Amino acid sequence: MPFSRLGLSPYVLPALQRALQQAGYGAPTPIQQQAVPVLLKGQDVVALAPTGSGKTAAYVLPALQHFFMAPPRRPRVLRHLVLVPTRELALQVADVFATLGRELPRQPRVVCAVGGVSINPQMMALRGGADVVVATPGRLLDLLAHNALSLRQVQLLVLDEADRLLELGFGEELRQILAELPAQRQTALFSATFPEQIEALAAAGLRAPQRLQV
Ligand code: AMP
Repeated sequence: MPFSRLGLSPYVLPALQRALQQAGYGAPTPIQQQAVPVLLKGQDVVALAPTGSGKTAAYVLPALQHFFMAPPRRPRVLRHLVLVPTRELALQVADVFATLGRELPRQPRVVCAVGGVSINPQMMALRGGADVVVATPGRLLDLLAHNALSLRQVQLLVLDEADRLLELGFGEELRQILAELPAQRQTALFSATFPEQIEALAAAGLRAPQRLQV
């Protein structure tokens, strides 16, 4: 199945296809084939998808379409929040947004909010406005405590590598972040394993999710 069959809008498809080709993505991986159409429809998703499955592009492509099709707002409004367990993964996700969005006439501003580095540059970056924030949970809560950003207008939440988020002890932080998010939103949870705590997280944070497995 080609990328043109995933339900992406003709307004974004040619630009995304050029970027996909430049990045060497020949055809969608199974998780992309399954998740992109469901996310484009606005449904919640719980996906059993390991690292290396192409899960990042599975949510970045719908997010890029959503960003591009929405009327531009200045100052920018944070619409997409991606929570990841590690700084390295945050940088990789931001990189996929840049790589796959590069041919669009308008690109989202993506800010990484991750622990282990000084908070001040992140506060400065957020002051400039962000369309997408890719964050580790502890640092996101620090930034919220500093009023450096608001989650009130987030429309899509992605929990990436959710099992690792919980293994690293971020369960309580996740609960606090979920409480700050609008109830009316789309949520996608990706995890390589499905222990009971992931089911509990999915039950707490998602609405009638479509379950996908690759
Ligand atoms: P991920 O599972 O999102 O970490 O992606 C794993 C690797 O697969 C990354 O290096 C991506 O660049 C690559 N990748 C993702 N989707 C595709 C695709 N459709 N075709 C070829 N490579 C891909």
